[in-house]
Amino acid sequence: MAKNSTPFEYAPAPESRSVVDIKASYGLFIDGDFVDGRGSSFKTVNPATEETLAEIAEASEADIDLAVRAARKAFRGWSRMPGKERAKYLFRIARIIQERGRELAVLESIDNGKPIKESRDVDVPIVAAHFFYYAGWADKLEYAGLGPNPQPLGVAGQIIPWNFPLLMLAWKIAPALACGNTVVLKPAETTPLTALLFAEICQQADLPPGVVNIVTGAGSTGQALVAHPDVDKVAFTGSTDVGKAIARAIAGTGKLATLELGGKAANIVFDDAALDQAVEGIVGGIFFNQGHVCCAGSRLLVQESVAEEVLHRLKRRMATLRVGDPLDKNTDIGAINSAEQLAKIRELSAIGEAEGAERWAPACDLPSSGFWFPPTVFTGVTQAHRIAREEVFGPVLSVLTFRTPSEAIEKANNTPYGLSAGVWTEKGSRILHMANELRAGVVWANTFNKFDPTSPFGGYKESGYGREGGRQGLAAYLKSTGLKGGDL
Ligand code: NAP
Ligand code: MG
Repeated sequence: MAKNSTPFEYAPAPESRSVVDIKASYGLFIDGDFVDGRGSSFKTVNPATEETLAEIAEASEADIDLAVRAARKAFRGWSRMPGKERAKYLFRIARIIQERGRELAVLESIDNGKPIKESRDVDVPIVAAHFFYYAGWADKLEYAGLGPNPQPLGVAGQIIPWNFPLLMLAWKIAPALACGNTVVLKPAETTPLTALLFAEICQQADLPPGVVNIVTGAGSTGQALVAHPDVDKVAFTGSTDVGKAIARAIAGTGKLATLELGGKAANIVFDDAALDQAVEGIVGGIFFNQGHVCCAGSRLLVQESVAEEVLHRLKRRMATLRVGDPLDKNTDIGAINSAEQLAKIRELSAIGEAEGAERWAPACDLPSSGFWFPPTVFTGVTQAHRIAREEVFGPVLSVLTFRTPSEAIEKANNTPYGLSAGVWTEKGSRILHMANELRAGVVWANTFNKFDPTSPFGGYKESGYGREGGRQGLAAYLKSTGLKGGDL
């Protein structure tokens, strides 16, 4: 638990684990059933304790082939089913997610390390909202502005990362199914459990076999899925390097792709901003989900005249953040997802210091087992520093300053990424000007990290292409009707 300077201590408030039933081992979910994989297996651990949670099947090429065949077979019936019938399944899944919300949230926190208050109040409700939202579109596709009689693509191979396991699954599966596609989804190696629970939910909802297939495994399983000749579309969320490898692998095959990749967002605070609110937004922007957020506000750009004051208030606020047991309802910052990610955060932070930036973190008593990193801020950062250019993907904030709006725009856009940005100011005209100038898929004004199924999300430049969410998210799963992105 974090030692802090608040006048009182919190009593422990642990959420019960008894609501989840973790099996000793899991197979693959293919054609409506759990089956043994033909490959080897691997373990998933609780990153807060390093306890092994379960043995997970690693799907081989032969398993991927079975899953893709099951999805192809199911596509005939699913794509021809009237939209209003498909919608019923999606509404049913959404309702079961709500009913089993506590179970999903606890399991997500155990497997991923994120605080229960986030999995319970953010991840799971938005997951249900995505299924409700796209269920509503299933029988209205011809009114989505994508041309008359829009048609599904076929079998989608979907690959997701470990930072929002269930939420990324929902972003991928809900629109694909609403449009009449069938899917083979690979969750990340370190966080397979909620995807496997989702497979049980598909069974509970009586979803026709083969419409959703879940294949667990590591990078090579993902590679095999991308390479399978009968996959029509690849939907990938993950790192820019793997995204580029996927784009190369499918070049010339006729497969379509959406790539949601990394980010290095600028969170820009002007001198007329409400500073306490801005500080809350800075904290939420970089410390939410341990900073394992592609759109995290990892570069704070603060106007020079208020920089000292903002930093003073930020450090005071950071000292009250509670780092520790993800299942404690008072925890603000949980465990880092893996030893590998922790090593990457430590390495980049050490480089930040070596390159001359000043490192600060509040005093924190970190648990002795598990993977932990304190909320950390670097000041004196320049644009040349690696911590200002590379994605740390952890609770590490780099602070830069600016004098004029045009300098802020120049610095904010000085990155190969372009996923998101934040602007804090009292002036509406300045918000509109900044939103026009910032090369980022999402620009939040006087807030940060807000997600809604009705709102498209996606990147510019090396943050990827294609959009998820909203009406635009449907376009990613329907045959091109000749409309350009700008028409949406
Ligand atoms: P990653 O290494 O790219 O992995 C993402 C997924 O791809 C995992 O399921 C991974 O399997 C799989 N994979 C790895 N190599 C592959 C290959 N050669 N072919 C096919 N699949 C492969 O990314 P990560 O480190 O898990 O996730 C963090 C990254 O995701 C960050 O860069 C973050 O910005 C990005 N992200 C972006 C968004 C967005 O919407 N733009 C959202 C969340 C995260 P294993 O896990 O088994 O390696
Ligand atoms: Mg795990």
